[in-house]
Amino acid sequence: MMDIPHPTRHALLIFLDGIGLGAPDPAVNPFAAAHLPTLTAFTAGRPWLADVGEHAGPVVVGGKPFETLFRPVDPRMGVAGRPQSASGQAAIVTGRPVPALLGEHYGPRPNAAIRALLDAGTLFTHVREAGGTAALLEGYPPGWHAVINSGKRLPSSYQYAAIAAGLPIAGEREIRSGDALAVDWTGEGWRRELGYRDTPVYTPAEGGRRMAELARRVTFSFFPHWYTDVVGHRAGMREGVGLLELFDQVLAGALAAWDPDDLIVVTSDHGNLEDLSHGKHTEADVPLLVIGREAARFAGARTLADLAGPLFAALYPHRPEPAPRDAVRGSGAR
Ligand SMILES: [Zn+2]
Repeated sequence: MMDIPHPTRHALLIFLDGIGLGAPDPAVNPFAAAHLPTLTAFTAGRPWLADVGEHAGPVVVGGKPFETLFRPVDPRMGVAGRPQSASGQAAIVTGRPVPALLGEHYGPRPNAAIRALLDAGTLFTHVREAGGTAALLEGYPPGWHAVINSGKRLPSSYQYAAIAAGLPIAGEREIRSGDALAVDWTGEGWRRELGYRDTPVYTPAEGGRRMAELARRVTFSFFPHWYTDVVGHRAGMREGVGLLELFDQVLAGALAAWDPDDLIVVTSDHGNLEDLSHGKHTEADVPLLVIGREAARFAGARTLADLAGPLFAALYPHRPEPAPRDAVRGSGAR
């Protein structure tokens, strides 16, 4: 039976916190030191470094051909200083140049101004209003739910966006049933860091496959991997190399279970992990990898604010791009 091409039904956004395109120095940049056969398949074998360049066209992974696009994108958006998580993540999910609208980079958690921008509409709400379904694929331990529900800690921008869209946030039960994944895909962190003895553990490839299967249950899904930023702040070189090699296998596993007509987007909010000579964010460009039949829609993406538009358009090519609710309500003065 021939596979018949169909419209893009599923879009999975894999968000890796704090990865930028840095120097070709294997002493401080895990991207220069790690063995990443899957990631570099999309960049003609070149490591994901500052000089990686732009790439587009079909790439065969695991015997399956995928349309792809890779390009560096700008997380700074014309605002001086080191880009931060809350404003960067908000730009990704709203499609608006949040640091420029704020006049600053802000993070790690969203302030009132960023929360107002998230309340005005994100990919989660846009897809739901278009008749689709959405999910945050990561599950959080009971301690996280307790501290968020108590109001003692704010959720991150993408968590806030999912909650504002009315989506359930997964916890221990979904981790146990396989209906959500841990931050590290494998679940080993729940055992090692959180002390669980009987939660599921997957190989990296199995974790990737599971992520793809969960993503195919809904129209738009978001998988946040925030551990890359934690390791960046810690400046842990060996851990950084290990994380990237883990993700390389996760992505290979995901693609083995993925339909080439559907869409995967991999990106970040700011640099950090690519320069472990210090434990701070960087001002580097971040990678944008797009896999799927509609990848070429992202060819004009220059900043983090340019991703939500083409992602929505890939799913809903005949619908106008949703306007932010605050602009709709406003007087017309912009
Ligand atoms: Zn950070």
